[in-house]
Amino acid sequence: MAPKQFPELNKIQEEQLKASLQQWSLSNGLVMYPPNFDSFQVNVAPITLFPTPIPRHCFDDAVAVQKIFNKLYINVVAKETKWLVEILTDLARFDPEFTGRLFKIYQELIADGVLQPLSLGIFRSDYMVDATLDKIKQIEFNTVSVSFGGLSTKIGELHQFLNATGLYDNKYNYKYYEDDEIKASPSVDEIADGLADGNYYYNEEKNSTGTIVLVVVQPNERNSFDQKLVEYSLFQRHKIRSYRVTLEDIESEITVSGDGKLYVKETMDEISVVYYRSGYGPGDYDVNSEKTWQGRLILEKSRAIKCPSILTQLSGSKKVQQLLTDKKVINKLLPSISSSELELLLSTFVDILPLDDDDSEEGASLAKKLAFEEPQNYVLKPQREGGGNNIYKSEIPKFLNKLKKEEWGAYILMKLINPQTYKNKIIRNNDIYHEDIISELGIFGTTVFNEETGEIKTNKNAGWLLRSKFETSNEGGVAAGFGCVDNVYLY
Ligand code: ADP
Ligand code: MG
Repeated sequence: MAPKQFPELNKIQEEQLKASLQQWSLSNGLVMYPPNFDSFQVNVAPITLFPTPIPRHCFDDAVAVQKIFNKLYINVVAKETKWLVEILTDLARFDPEFTGRLFKIYQELIADGVLQPLSLGIFRSDYMVDATLDKIKQIEFNTVSVSFGGLSTKIGELHQFLNATGLYDNKYNYKYYEDDEIKASPSVDEIADGLADGNYYYNEEKNSTGTIVLVVVQPNERNSFDQKLVEYSLFQRHKIRSYRVTLEDIESEITVSGDGKLYVKETMDEISVVYYRSGYGPGDYDVNSEKTWQGRLILEKSRAIKCPSILTQLSGSKKVQQLLTDKKVINKLLPSISSSELELLLSTFVDILPLDDDDSEEGASLAKKLAFEEPQNYVLKPQREGGGNNIYKSEIPKFLNKLKKEEWGAYILMKLINPQTYKNKIIRNNDIYHEDIISELGIFGTTVFNEETGEIKTNKNAGWLLRSKFETSNEGGVAAGFGCVDNVYLY
């Protein structure tokens, strides 16, 4: 079945739609700080006017496979720790300044004795729908600082409002989409529930409101309302308070008791969960580097549950993703997986090849050949998070040639997914852009698990996110200014 076309509105109707969209967004927190902002002024977040079509069966697959992915990464961290540590030892050599430094903190923790074996995961698995295959294909699995769970719920509600009040209809005030075609993501609440799960297990399986969540944020964060929406939900649904701090300010604002408990100095509020919305890239440690790394170390050494733990964070590296595309590895990590689940999981993978110098590794020499002979089909990725780091298509040979051969191992070569394009409309500031866009579907999941025993306390779905960008731009980061927040129209 083909999706409905986007609503076709005349100029006056589009102006009315825009005004209504802006007012709703400002009233309901679908907002972001502009560049160089003052604390009292916001912008409507970059968003689409209409929801973008996603085949329902693709959406259902992505939702269905989430808990399997959660479990896969849990088992990488908790059951195949030795294997993961070996991989990370290599990555640390390639990237001593960042991966290496995080890894060193992990080693220090192990040497000192880990105070908190429980780890909280708030994950997001990202996909594009391959237009030819009509199937979801995974872009990456994010294990740290996943964003847009808050704004995703809001844009779903916005599109529902615009639809239900008739603003998508060009003649009457009819609904253009059926209600079940444009669901709003429950992510804001379900991510908050994930944090509450962490608080619950920290307090020995009690719903305590006496402990709080520490939200570790970047200085001058522009996407803070996405985070605040989750914090408000956490308070509204669970009466759990939260406290925001930058890595740089940990030493001055946070203190640790003799038994490793973490407290806010000023109020002596005990911290159950450290929720990282910062700390995932080297840039987060650039300003006052020694102090920020020291801040991270203090948090990691404490008894609070980390979201995520260092090992869980590093399990999200592109190298691990590449190794997990091997069926033998999957079977080892998920020995009791059903054949239909296994098939679904494997169907989400595209070819990812290593570029390690060790030619004995399967695929390494093939990758080197492909990178030069058909770069137009590939993207080259370093072990980095947060957008703007990849090398695309014809840039790949030039880029590799500039590197030393020994450095190639820090990259993976991934087959490009070929997504459907749509002519949706994007609104940024006061301007409406009408260009071909491509979309990336992210599915959230949360889990509490024991890193030492492998016991899984919770494993849940937590809603979704659709992000779209102009087809002409390679990267999709919303905060980075390339993309926008969208929602699904299921057909
Ligand atoms: P990061 O950790 O920086 O977010 P990603 O792996 O998500 O890295 O890549 C960034 C962006 O590059 C994605 O959001 C997507 O738009 C694009 N991209 C990455 N891998 C592919 C791929 N295999 N095919 C098509 N686009 C891709
Ligand atoms: Mg990404």
